[in-house]
Amino acid sequence: MPIYEYHCPKCKIEFELKRHMSEYNQPAICSQCGSKAQKLISGFASKTGSYLQSPKPPFRRAKAGQ
Ligand SMILES: [Zn+2]
Repeated sequence: MPIYEYHCPKCKIEFELKRHMSEYNQPAICSQCGSKAQKLISGFASKTGSYLQSPKPPFRRAKAGQ
């Protein structure tokens, strides 16, 4: 089962959730506050405009020359 990353705008945390691919774009519930969390997609800003910079870069990283 693939793992998807979600971001809770309330708690400002990210968490991972294992879901079926058919469920991946359904809203995830934050385990901390119970509100809807947003799915993180690299290179995609959410419609709400509350997309925050994540402390660690998501899957797509620029290739470092080192
Ligand atoms: Zn939360």
